[in-house]
Amino acid sequence: MGVAQMEGRRIRIQGTVQGVGFRPWVYRMAHSAGVTGRVRNDSAGVTIEAFGEQDALARFVDALKNPPAAARILAFDQSAIAAEAAPDFEIVASERTCDHVVSIPPDLATCPECTAEIFDPANRRFRYPFTNCTNCGPRFTIATDIPYDRPATTMAPFEMCPACRREYEDAADRRFHAQPNACPVCGPRLAFHGPDGTRLTPDDPIAAAARAISHGLIVAVKGIGGFHLACDATSEFAVRRLRERKHRDEKPLAVMVRDLAEAETLAVLSDVERALLTSAERPIVLVERSAECSLPSGLAPHNRMLGLFLPYSPLHHLLLADAGRPLVMTSANLSDEPIAFMDDEAIHRLVRIADCFLMHDRRIETRCDDSVVTVIGGEGAVLRRSRGYVPRAIRTPRPIARPVLACGGLLKNTFCLAQGHDAWVGPHIGDLENLETYDSYVQSIARMQRFLALQPEVIAYDMHPDYLSSRYAKRQPQSTKIAVQHHHAHVVSAMTEHGIDEPAIGIAYDGTGFGTDGTLWGGEIMVATPASFRRVATFRPIALVGGDRAIREPWRIALALAVDAFDGNVPGDVLALFDVDDRDRTFVGKLLAGRFPAPLARGVGRYFDGFGALFLRRPRSAFEGQIALEWTQVADPRVSRSYRFTIDTTTACPEIDVRLAFQDAVVDLARGEPVASIAAAFHNTLTEATAAAVRRIVPSVGALPIVASGGCFQNARLAESLCAALAPEHRVWLQRQVPPGDGGISLGQAVIASALCA
Ligand code: ZN
Ligand code: ZN
Ligand code: FE
Repeated sequence: MGVAQMEGRRIRIQGTVQGVGFRPWVYRMAHSAGVTGRVRNDSAGVTIEAFGEQDALARFVDALKNPPAAARILAFDQSAIAAEAAPDFEIVASERTCDHVVSIPPDLATCPECTAEIFDPANRRFRYPFTNCTNCGPRFTIATDIPYDRPATTMAPFEMCPACRREYEDAADRRFHAQPNACPVCGPRLAFHGPDGTRLTPDDPIAAAARAISHGLIVAVKGIGGFHLACDATSEFAVRRLRERKHRDEKPLAVMVRDLAEAETLAVLSDVERALLTSAERPIVLVERSAECSLPSGLAPHNRMLGLFLPYSPLHHLLLADAGRPLVMTSANLSDEPIAFMDDEAIHRLVRIADCFLMHDRRIETRCDDSVVTVIGGEGAVLRRSRGYVPRAIRTPRPIARPVLACGGLLKNTFCLAQGHDAWVGPHIGDLENLETYDSYVQSIARMQRFLALQPEVIAYDMHPDYLSSRYAKRQPQSTKIAVQHHHAHVVSAMTEHGIDEPAIGIAYDGTGFGTDGTLWGGEIMVATPASFRRVATFRPIALVGGDRAIREPWRIALALAVDAFDGNVPGDVLALFDVDDRDRTFVGKLLAGRFPAPLARGVGRYFDGFGALFLRRPRSAFEGQIALEWTQVADPRVSRSYRFTIDTTTACPEIDVRLAFQDAVVDLARGEPVASIAAAFHNTLTEATAAAVRRIVPSVGALPIVASGGCFQNARLAESLCAALAPEHRVWLQRQVPPGDGGISLGQAVIASALCA
């Protein structure tokens, strides 16, 4: 071999590359390729300087393109540098350079190796609830600053013992540079507190918590992104007690099961659902209850679906093993308040709900709820994007020239920060309707700005003047503020995650959003770009008598539909279907006839509410979307018939009109047609009407890409049937990474604002 020519290469990698075992992996790749040099974390991601012969460098660069599972590479560039005679390849200490942004990794579920260790009596981490390694453990929720290194996490106060330190420094060890590395000698410890918050000292706090649960008690458990309330999911009594104390009337409660085998006994699972349940993100997965499922129906009243998830921290694994049964694990809060995450605050707020507390001394820096996912059309769709996903960036097709803060909506709020090709959607905040949630929103925005070292120059917000997020936006000092129409934001959110930057046909169906014509929108079909939209179809508006009250009492919407469908002369047998006080019905009927000003709403979600309330004879809704969900679940999948509809082209924007469908449904009911068949025909009608409205405009606008978003597309039946109805000529892109509901609009707002001020 002659004197080989040494070359040098500088490789910069951006994305989720810190805290996911990336540098140790680069180190191993360098060794096996035979290159020398160094790798370090910096505020922009990871920088590698590699030296070696041309072939070795090429092998190394190739290997870097298949990173470890938890890492995400968003940008990769390399340049030639002068060769250096570096003796070895090394990992050098982090360097803080403030000129770029970095992505702190999301929290990762406990890996199989760590799980095996905590159940191995011979291992020094046997039953140690804070076990982690470079492949797993908390990240985002314990980070206090960037770059992501132990001193900038809430692990800083815990000094590693010699054994942990050896692992941390040994490049061949699974814990090499695992920032939260800990063991029973040096790491965080558990504590058990009684009902009034007094600290008790049982020998084994996890066993004590499991015992309490087996006696039907409610235990507040401090987890990764906040506290859970845990109780025996198999006990009707415990579940009812939890509901009463939490003031959570009928919302479904999530259930944690020990492993996939236990999940299979409760639900019918597909391969995609199994993969989601066991993914490193460990979301709650909405799955269909199996016929053999023996859990009390009180977990999710009137609901065929069940929210299941698997343990994602060693503490969960141990608790589930000791309890020996599935556990309700629901966010620890009073209904509508944000999840508790600090010790004193948790005791203070939960003292009337929890019977005891299982806590620990590792601080949670950032509150982060469990994420929720479901399968639509054979693929996962994130319905609530939080722990496990946040703060992973979503790549925008067009660069965001000036940094943007998008403030999101009202319900299921998230915010979004964007710069360059990255959009970071923040953790789930919840419904911005009380002071606690608002405070958490403001703090969360400030913290994410700090983590990303991002100073927004542009503020985007929803056009609705009364949303707390819009008011927050208006108070910000930045001079560039852009109000974004709600459904335009839904559509551009879907376009963005699929990399669509050219005009698209957007279908945005939800409950309510502020429209520009004095009505509430939510049944909108538009031709949109990030900078503009033009509505091409909408739904005929319905009167909401009592405004928001009509949403809680959807029988009011049903009556409005009936009055509209029968031109004011609602037949007596239809009126007899209303399961409400006659005086109430007469009063609302008078308001409808008298043309008193009531808000007019076009939301498809309102049609679900109205039809569902009447035909299911369920006049009231315990929470947003409850009746709509039941109306969908009752629909018979084998029924393919539909009802009549028209598209009225005489209105300013063509209107899908389902008054005839309402009449048809009433006739069906009178004929004794089962409700399951009526619900199915209703769904099929919406799908056909939507497909017809889309086909109607294709000749004039061309075969543009089609996206569908809005809360109605959390509904797998509607989404799947729409995809089928437009296939094979058209493909409909659904939201996958970002919620179709209002948790997804901040992404659209950010991209729209950026396009408008470019
Ligand atoms: Zn691990
Ligand atoms: Zn240790
Ligand atoms: Fe919406």
